[in-house]
Order: sequence, then structure tokens, then C-alpha cells
Amino acid sequence: MGVFMLGAMRICSTFAAIGAVSVFASTALAAGSIPRFYGDAPDDHHPWAVHDPNRPQPKVVTPGSFSSLEQPGQPPSDAIILFDGTDLSKWESGNGAPAKWAVKEGVMEVVPSSGELRTKDKFGDCQLHLEWAAPKEVKGDSQGRGNSGVFLMGLVEIQILDSYNNITYADGHAGAVYGVNPPMVNPLRAPGEFQVYDIVFRRPIYKGGQAVDPGHVTIFLNGVLIQDHTALEGPTGHMTRSQPRPFPDKGPLALQDHGNPTRFRNIWYRELPPRPLEGGTDGYLTTEATMAKRKEIAASIRQDADQLSNPNNPLPEMLRRMESLAYEKDEATVQKVQQMATPYVEALKTLSTDQLSARKDEVRQVDGAFKYLARFKAIPAGFEPAAELDKLVKAQNWDRKKK
Ligand code: MG
Repeated sequence: MGVFMLGAMRICSTFAAIGAVSVFASTALAAGSIPRFYGDAPDDHHPWAVHDPNRPQPKVVTPGSFSSLEQPGQPPSDAIILFDGTDLSKWESGNGAPAKWAVKEGVMEVVPSSGELRTKDKFGDCQLHLEWAAPKEVKGDSQGRGNSGVFLMGLVEIQILDSYNNITYADGHAGAVYGVNPPMVNPLRAPGEFQVYDIVFRRPIYKGGQAVDPGHVTIFLNGVLIQDHTALEGPTGHMTRSQPRPFPDKGPLALQDHGNPTRFRNIWYRELPPRPLEGGTDGYLTTEATMAKRKEIAASIRQDADQLSNPNNPLPEMLRRMESLAYEKDEATVQKVQQMATPYVEALKTLSTDQLSARKDEVRQVDGAFKYLARFKAIPAGFEPAAELDKLVKAQNWDRKKK
């Protein structure tokens, strides 16, 4: 255990230093403190290495704040706001006419019989946040009490209902995928109080007439998970079994007028990145998609290597070109690395023992990088400069593990 830990720490610091060398000459390499030639290399289904320093950093988003019963919270910085309490400018009636619901005291309210509201925006996969309150005065029962609904893409209804002490059919409760799947539990607050929906929606994806992903919805109601990656079964029906079918790429979000003055506040969404099935490059990819992405990454690293070109200090460029080979064993790059590495190793051979010792860390870094590439077959077997460098390292006993 102790030996392993020491070994791991040593490798980590060694390759962190290689990163530092590259960063010295290139502003494109912001990830200088991340080790290179380190985690398992890209493979048939992963275009990135494990712990890959070239993998883009997540975009920074400033988080918002949570709502209280009294106050709506702030949306995150990248949210697209559909209703912030002031007006219905993002909305229209279901028939395209101006929105007719009321806006007062920071909320919008269903005007019964004025018809549904839908967004002017059309969008598909999203994280949706929405807060609603059933009328405080309890009237009616079952589906007649505080009924409205969120129609994702205008097609799939996530039920809104005053389900607080209200018996109805289970697949029609608040938070149900209406007619398909009841909420797992009923964490509703009393009527009149705001309820919070946080919804993750992935629409169905069809290829050649076949569903390759049925689409899914995950929902938190007042912070409690009530739908866990529930598969969609097509557009919502009433009394009829929903039937799967292709969806458009985008659609409006619609809110139902079911004759009850339901109130809404703090409605926003964030569009989600594509899944691997539709061209996304994060996740477990097909071999074809992986290889295409690996080619693209390799090309961008080679471009970066061009920027590092410096006759007085060729090492950063050489290491960067070597790095690109982990993504694509491009023949021209293999040759270029050979052209750069051969004189590099030959020059090392001419150094005195003292001179060589002074460059021990650097030499071991390059040797480690070659060993990494050889391990993942990113350089040809017996690649000559790598073999020569290995001899030199062994002659110095630098390949021995520290005791
Ligand atoms: Mg409804």
C-alpha cells in the first residue's frame, strides 16, 4: 500500500511538471496543473483520457437562490427566464392570441375559460423550474380541485393539482406524468402555498422510425424526488393509453387552464446539451462518434503544438505533438515526433554525467510520456527514440522505484 501510494504521488508530480513546461509557452493550455500522459488513454468509446487535461472545463454558472414560502428565489445565471413576476411578454394564448391570464403581486394567475398559455420560445430537452399555488379556498374534489398542468413541449402533461388531502386517481395527482405514472410520494404543501417543480426533461429520439430513446422525465416536488427518470410513453391523453411517437425537436411549454385560478411564479429553464445519440460527445459513445471526436481533438492539439514551435526550446512542441498521438496515431505526427525526438535523445547522450543529472526530471518526464504512449499503442512498437531514451534512463538507474 505504502509503495503504491509513493509511486502514484511521484508519477503525479512528474507529469504535473510536464504540464507546466507546456503552459509556459502556450496560453491555450490553461490546465497546466493537471497531469498529462496520466490516466487511461482514449479508447473506442471514450474520446477523452481518464483525468484528461485537454477536456474542456465546465462552463461557470453563478447559482441562484432557493425560494422561500414567501419569496421566489433567484434563477441561476444561465437560465432563460419565462416569468419573473412582472409581465407575460414571453407568453401567448394557445391559439396564438395575446396571453389573457392575470398578473398581480408578482404572480400570474389562470383566468378561468381564457384558455391555456404557451411560451413564445420553443425548446426541447431542458431543466425547468416552476412554482405554482392552488387556490387557498378549497373548492371541489378529485380532478376538480386546483387543476392545471405543465405541458412539456406542449405534449406531455405533468399534472398540477391540489392533491393536499384530496383523493383522486393516482396517475392524476400533482407531479404525475398524467395518465402514465403517479408521483412516488405526495410531498404537497397546503393549498395557497407555493409548490416548487424542478423538472429534467429529455424528449424521445427516433431513428429510422424506431425509438432509440423513449425520452425521460425526472421531477423534484418541493425538493422531494417524485419521478425518477420515468420513461415517456408519448403525448398525454385523457382516459386513453398514451402511445409513443416521434416528437419535434422543439415545442412551446404550455400551462393548462382547467377552470381553476392556479397561480404561478418564478418560471425558468436551461437548455440541456445533446445526448450521445444525437451528437453529444460526453458519455459512452459509439466507436464511430468516438473516433471522429478523437480526430478533432488531435487536430486541435497539433494546432496548439504549431504555436509552441521554438528552435531554442523544441521540447514543449514535441511533448504536445506526442500528446496528440494518444487521440490519433497520425502517421505524419509519428514521423514529426521521431524527427524531433531523435536529435533530442542524441544530444542527451553527449552530456556529461553532471549535465545529465541536472536534467533528470525533464528526461524522466519525456521517458514517462513515451512509455505512456507505448502502453496505449499510440507509437509504433520499438519506436527508436523511445528505446534509446529508455536505455539512457536505465543506464542512470533512474527507472528504479524509490524505496
Ligand atoms: Mg391538469
